[in-house]
Amino acid sequence: MSKTIYPFIFIVLISVAVNAQKQFTHADTLRGSITPERAWWDVMRYDISVKPDFDKKYTSGFNKISYKVVQQDHPNVMQIDLQQPLVIDSIIYDKKQSLSFSREGDVYHVKTPPQKIESEHEVKIYFSGKPHEAIRAPWDGGWTFAKDEKGRPWMTVTCQGLGASIWYPNKDHQSDEPDHGASLTMRVPKDLMAVANGRMLNKTEHKDGTVSYKWCVENPISNYTIIPYIGYYKNFSEVYTGIKGDLDLNYWVLDYNLEKAKDYMPTEVHNLLNAFEYWFGPYPFYEDGYKLVETEHTGMEHQSNVSYGNWYAGGYRGRDLSGTGLGLTWDFIIIHESGHEWFGNNITTNDLADMYIHESFTNYSETLFLDYVYGEEAANDYNYGTRAGIKNDKPIIPAYDVNAQGSGDMYPKGGNMLHSIRHSMDDDKLFKNVLTGLNITFHNQTVDGSEILEYISEKSGYDYSKVFEQYLTTTKIPKLQLYIDAPNSKMFYKYTNIVDGFNLPLVLKGDEEKIKIIPSSEWQSVDIHHKNQYLFTPWRIERMYYIDVELLDNRD
Ligand SMILES: [Zn+2]
Repeated sequence: MSKTIYPFIFIVLISVAVNAQKQFTHADTLRGSITPERAWWDVMRYDISVKPDFDKKYTSGFNKISYKVVQQDHPNVMQIDLQQPLVIDSIIYDKKQSLSFSREGDVYHVKTPPQKIESEHEVKIYFSGKPHEAIRAPWDGGWTFAKDEKGRPWMTVTCQGLGASIWYPNKDHQSDEPDHGASLTMRVPKDLMAVANGRMLNKTEHKDGTVSYKWCVENPISNYTIIPYIGYYKNFSEVYTGIKGDLDLNYWVLDYNLEKAKDYMPTEVHNLLNAFEYWFGPYPFYEDGYKLVETEHTGMEHQSNVSYGNWYAGGYRGRDLSGTGLGLTWDFIIIHESGHEWFGNNITTNDLADMYIHESFTNYSETLFLDYVYGEEAANDYNYGTRAGIKNDKPIIPAYDVNAQGSGDMYPKGGNMLHSIRHSMDDDKLFKNVLTGLNITFHNQTVDGSEILEYISEKSGYDYSKVFEQYLTTTKIPKLQLYIDAPNSKMFYKYTNIVDGFNLPLVLKGDEEKIKIIPSSEWQSVDIHHKNQYLFTPWRIERMYYIDVELLDNRD
């Protein structure tokens, strides 16, 4: 099929399937779509400044948004998002002119002077208020005003899905990342340390006993991964020799955990960088370094600034999501959240509905990590074990353009879809080239899921659109039916419970034997003999492919 047609069909099918289910509001559309008031300007840079007051749970600050005009004819109105109860106090255009604005819920319509296409401008937006607080970070979002074990302030923010406008004003849509990076300045009492993305640029002491720490990233960044961490942090660092050269690694942990962290964290981080640079190519942000920062919540994939709250032990706070025991032998948060540096931060989806690109690939990065460190058998066992977490209650892809987030199946089921695709290719070198190629081709870009599908299909020479459609837009598990015609030495096979045209190839392998079949909804057959018949053992197939296998007594 042509380059552009199958993703298009795929999207149409999805829209029809999911939009029937839920009623969305005008506010959802304002939040989740490229409105006319968003379309005409492209964010170039965010320079954010915030002063959190721990006792009052109050924040104030500004975001200076530098942008370029990208449309000739456009409304002289700009949509800025800031969620209640925070409010915008004032807006200054190009350092001199005060702009008027009106509020519609969590959206501000800002009147701007006429501006020419290609011209660059800035708006400095001052805000203040008692911000929304996270109740169960990182699963909901907002500010966390926690206390460490010694009862001292420990603050941060989480806001994936909910959106960065929960704590600072911005253009809150994943498709527009600041091309020239961002800075975050945090003004805090002088005995607290403040850490953010990238590298620390400067520290300024103020007469009132507060200190400002300014941090900066050079790379484009998702606005939901720009995050402050404020607490009694201590730091240690090292240099890792990666495939692009020297990479600065920094660890920021609470002062009383410093010795424990020094013993524990570097080994996990070296293992992850070895494994992921092997499978995915170079760490995407050498310029900004890599950093782990201790948090009270479990963890989040903040770009070059990964949150860590996994208690310095293997598993996911002591649990193994695969049930095999293998998951307890490495730190789930360090591996998974850092995997997002490639899928999520380097490659970011335009629409939250395509979040499976972030989570399915990062879920599968766990299996690939095991493959690198322990070998293929362990990796297959782990991946098979994670299927216990698949619910198949609703499709992975929800509605587009309304900031909707899909089923949690995007993690283990998405990972199992990729596992199936990998084995259907039967060429790990090709599979690795696809993963690395994605990260090079779409470096620092925002994408649609259909572009990722298209790339995988082109690079592998096989159209996987029906495979994506089956696993992402339905809850049906494909079933492979088998029937042995022993007298004639034939194995008959076909798929049921599939979308029209589902065509996942199956490569069935033993130590010396190999059979490749491409089942469809019609019976087909392959010659077998008593030495290779075992390749059709259901468990062998199910371990490599996320399908059910059924042996039939007859072909009716
Ligand atoms: Zn994740």
